[in-house]
Amino acid sequence: MKKDDCIFCKIANGEIPTNSIYEDEKFRVILDMGPATKGHALILPKEHYANLYELPEDWAAEAMVLAKRMAGSMTEKLGCDGFNLVQNNNPCAGQTVFHFHLHLIPRYENDGQEILWNPTSPSAEELKEIHQILTK
Ligand code: AMP
Ligand code: ZN
Repeated sequence: MKKDDCIFCKIANGEIPTNSIYEDEKFRVILDMGPATKGHALILPKEHYANLYELPEDWAAEAMVLAKRMAGSMTEKLGCDGFNLVQNNNPCAGQTVFHFHLHLIPRYENDGQEILWNPTSPSAEELKEIHQILTK
């Protein structure tokens, strides 16, 4: 299904022209309009799923295989030194466009970007508690 007021539905399905670098039956890969680095791209499914929670498992599997292939071909073409895959879900996690997308971010030595978090120092008890929550 497409969502009428969703810009990524329109871009993924070719209704709005964009810098597309790959397309198949299910996905389009486009250049991000505000790239973190040279070549920053987005994998968009052609069906509307707001985020990873909504994305069916078979689409998730195909998106990851495509990401692996794109990372390989983009690294070869761009000569980048590394690669980040980033995928944000919901505003608190930095999502600003509510149509699932997977960021493909080529990294270059000294590119000035930081895609990092601030590590915290939980106690052994706190780690045990979260372990229990996640394994029950
Ligand atoms: P996120 O913060 O994970 O939701 O990422 C949204 C990304 O989409 C940002 O990196 C934006 O620069 C990018 N973006 C938003 N609108 C467009 C557009 N029309 N074409 C290309 N990239 C876009
Ligand atoms: Zn959409």
